[in-house]
Amino acid sequence: MIVFDLQCKCGCQFEGWFAGRVDFDRQNDLGLIACPRCGGEKVRKILSPVAVYSGCGGRASKPAEGEQEITPATMVRFLRTVRHFVEKNFNDVGPRLAEESLKMRYGVSEPRNIRGTATADQEIMLRKEGIELLHIPLIGKDPSEPKPN
Ligand SMILES: [Zn+2]
Repeated sequence: MIVFDLQCKCGCQFEGWFAGRVDFDRQNDLGLIACPRCGGEKVRKILSPVAVYSGCGGRASKPAEGEQEITPATMVRFLRTVRHFVEKNFNDVGPRLAEESLKMRYGVSEPRNIRGTATADQEIMLRKEGIELLHIPLIGKDPSEPKPN
């Protein structure tokens, strides 16, 4: 799979996943790629590439002509970036995830981003309350990352 950064003539930028460059050209010729904002079918590839952005150290290799193959290594970098983001921006409530989610749901506490753990039973209960949990795959830290303080 290849990710292309695409731009519509309305200025909207979005990404598309294709089997390859030929697949992109074919779909574009047939007008199968539509802008998510205006529905326009005249899109073009942007040469600045989509890359999985690694917050710590940039990307390892420069993609050629606006494309990047998704490799296992890219995926690992991506998951590390997600984990890093979540650790930085979500308050860790540990096993109190269900309790804290419910408090926010019922206005007992201020809405904020939280992360933590929930049992399968708790998760079913939360879903009945209309609270969806997002599972993040836990991936090991990059050995080259600085140790947290
Ligand atoms: Zn558009």
